Amino acid sequence: MPSLLSFTPRGIYCEQADVFIDPWKGVDRAIITHAHSDHARGGSKHYLAHPITKQLMHARIGKDLSIDTLWPGQVGTINGVKFSLHPAGHIPGSMQVRVEHKGEVWVASGDHKRHADGISEPFEPVKCHTYITECTFGLPIYKWKEPTVIFNEIDAWWRKNAADGVCSVISAYSLGKAQRLMTGVDTSIGPILVHGAVANMNTVLQECGLNLPAWEQITPATPKERFRNALVITPGSAIGTPWTTKMKPYSSAMASGWMQLRGWRRRGNLDSGFVLSDHADWDALLLAVKETGAERIIATHGYTDLFSQYLRSMGYNATAESTEFGGEDGVEKAKEDNVQFSMVNPRSSTPTPEDHPNGTKTL
Ligand SMILES: [Zn+2]
Ligand SMILES: [Zn+2]
Repeated sequence: MPSLLSFTPRGIYCEQADVFIDPWKGVDRAIITHAHSDHARGGSKHYLAHPITKQLMHARIGKDLSIDTLWPGQVGTINGVKFSLHPAGHIPGSMQVRVEHKGEVWVASGDHKRHADGISEPFEPVKCHTYITECTFGLPIYKWKEPTVIFNEIDAWWRKNAADGVCSVISAYSLGKAQRLMTGVDTSIGPILVHGAVANMNTVLQECGLNLPAWEQITPATPKERFRNALVITPGSAIGTPWTTKMKPYSSAMASGWMQLRGWRRRGNLDSGFVLSDHADWDALLLAVKETGAERIIATHGYTDLFSQYLRSMGYNATAESTEFGGEDGVEKAKEDNVQFSMVNPRSSTPTPEDHPNGTKTL
């Protein structure tokens, strides 16, 4: 009997149901863990995703995608295989995928994190026999401080800049990190001004019901004085381009797990760095593994070899698989934030609470 999920050149595959999870090539049917571009790609015929992910995919990839939805805990059955989504805590709408067939249970974590971020449904451990986990930060050097500590650092930087009449420009991924920053900082310091890529994601998420503090999109008409005590949130690729010229004088920073690495300042040409990640750190990865109760662990994107090696030393049956995920928390993928998003009005199809039964659904 083939294993319930397998790794193929197109992605993580469930042969029994003919469904892929976060495929990196076009397929007939795909289940999507979350809307970051390394996990949610265009080119497939049918998708299944959380309702927020659906709206984000329509905005980021195209409004004509065929996307069916599942709410967390709701079970969808395809050819006898049961699929359900469970919060991953990574970004709004991010889910782990639980797959069950004839008593065998697998969970694919997608990207996940443990710290509450105020915008994502909190991570939920799910029992399984085999657990496919990300390990973007799967090295013991990655240990996150409490987010409140980091936000105090960010506020202190912004407050000092504002007092000096210096604009604070912070680089953050447009989906997830940007909104987490907006909700975490002390908005009494000054206005929050955002890049168009961030504005697009804010709009979709607000239409999905997310509460965000006041923000303004930066336009050519934004007066120069408006920047003096402002926090500008932007994809990193825009910093240092003509787009930031009228913000001068400004101080630049980045909020990312990679800021824990030495050398970020040189590589990123930044004035400050804040270690704020939307991925699990070393301890949280290990805790997640433990809580699943799984005897078999498959490590994907990140330090897969080292992480699986460590798990084997702990007695787990652990292996590494290569995938085409990864990078959205770092500088590598910052460029893609500059792509133009095709905007749709998601309100027409935004789900209402009545669409949220804990029932089952045949797909
Ligand atoms: Zn992600
Ligand atoms: Zn990822």
